[in-house]
Amino acid sequence: MPTPRIAIIGAGPGGLTCARILQQHGITAAVYDLDASRTVRNQGGTLDMHPDSGQHALREAGLWDAFLLQARPEGQQMRLVSRDGRILLDAIPPEADTTEGNPEIDRGQLRDLLLDSLTPDTVRWGHKLTHAEALGNGTHRLHFTDGTTTDADLVIGADGAWSKIRRLVSDAAPLYTGVTFVETGFNNADTRHPRLAELTGNGTMMALDDNLGFVAQRNSGGHIRVYVGMRTDEDWYEHADVALADTAAVRDTLLKKFTGWGPDLLDFITHTDTGYTNRPLFALPVPHAWAHTPGVTLLGDAAHLMSPFSGMGANLAMLDGADLAHALINSPTVDDAIHAYEALLQPRSVAAAGGAAEGINSAFAPDSATQVLAHMTQHH
Ligand SMILES: Cc1cc2nc3c(=O)[nH]c(=O)nc-3n(C[C@H](O)[C@H](O)[C@H](O)COP(=O)(O)OP(=O)(O)OC[C@H]3O[C@@H](n4cnc5c(N)ncnc54)[C@H](O)[C@@H]3O)c2cc1C
Repeated sequence: MPTPRIAIIGAGPGGLTCARILQQHGITAAVYDLDASRTVRNQGGTLDMHPDSGQHALREAGLWDAFLLQARPEGQQMRLVSRDGRILLDAIPPEADTTEGNPEIDRGQLRDLLLDSLTPDTVRWGHKLTHAEALGNGTHRLHFTDGTTTDADLVIGADGAWSKIRRLVSDAAPLYTGVTFVETGFNNADTRHPRLAELTGNGTMMALDDNLGFVAQRNSGGHIRVYVGMRTDEDWYEHADVALADTAAVRDTLLKKFTGWGPDLLDFITHTDTGYTNRPLFALPVPHAWAHTPGVTLLGDAAHLMSPFSGMGANLAMLDGADLAHALINSPTVDDAIHAYEALLQPRSVAAAGGAAEGINSAFAPDSATQVLAHMTQHH
């Protein structure tokens, strides 16, 4: 087909995977991201890469060996702890000492891996898209906050949860799941917070009960990231008359909510090195489908934002990116490629998003301690 002008909005794992595989096949795509540079924002926690999705995409992108250099197979350990701090279940998969299974990598390391694989200037930093205007025949004019515009024959919405490109194909908007994570963290945990490091283990530790919970995860460099979770109103802090910037007030409010939980778990709240970041969890309605629209498609969270309880968000974003790139490489026209890609995308994202909705509802339920123990006993 004649060389189409391809614009990918969003330099997350999905958009970058797509750009990388296209480039390997001689197809140019420009990636636009609102961040001023690649280092401007901390990229967040750890991700486990699944064989059929994230790992498959890394192989397709020619980045498998580079991934293995940074992957943490031991991070697959999964531990369930009671609300009084006893270890109920400790699943150390046999793969934990090999590169099999679902090895972990920091989100920032994964993004760097993908960015370093692209030719310089592929990503246009500091380009925040405001809206896209249909010009007819599948062409769109992209408008950025600095007043610049560019025209594209294919615009790929890889712009995450609050996608602006999604509006071109669908009226759907993310809805609050009813669960908020308050994120906190611990640096050099093994030396500075040995009890918390021991309780966390080498991977993920969860303590979930009565609509509340802790999820602690090892990251690289001795860092432990903890999500203090609660089923609550989105504006819980306003009800508690607390300003989110007031670290002491947030701490006291959280401690009150977790009254009666074991002292070691409460130390995840009190001993914080990083303060607290409020992260209400949103998801798109399931199913999120849209009618075929010439010249535009979505991937990753823009297409199927789901709660982290699927463990699939980044994995699917990368698989989407890889599948879309291959559809473009193998199809006679952009329109054929969009059709082929969306036929793959829709069924698998509905299945994963349905699972994520069930997952968050059983993790934050009155009887979540029983539900999660039963689930993990069956699966580990
Ligand atoms: C607490 C938590 C834990 C998680 N754990 C896991 C896990 O263990 N495993 C897993 O697979 N997934 C996990 N996820 C999900 C995962 O992080 C996302 O699904 C994944 O990052 C989606 O990738 P993406 O490329 O679609 O979008 P994103 O990573 O969101 O990237 C979107 C990009 O678009 C840019 N952008 C946004 N708007 C604009 C605009 N208007 N103009 C220009 N650029 C724009 C952003 O700057 C960003 O770089 C977790 C999520 C959360 C919240």
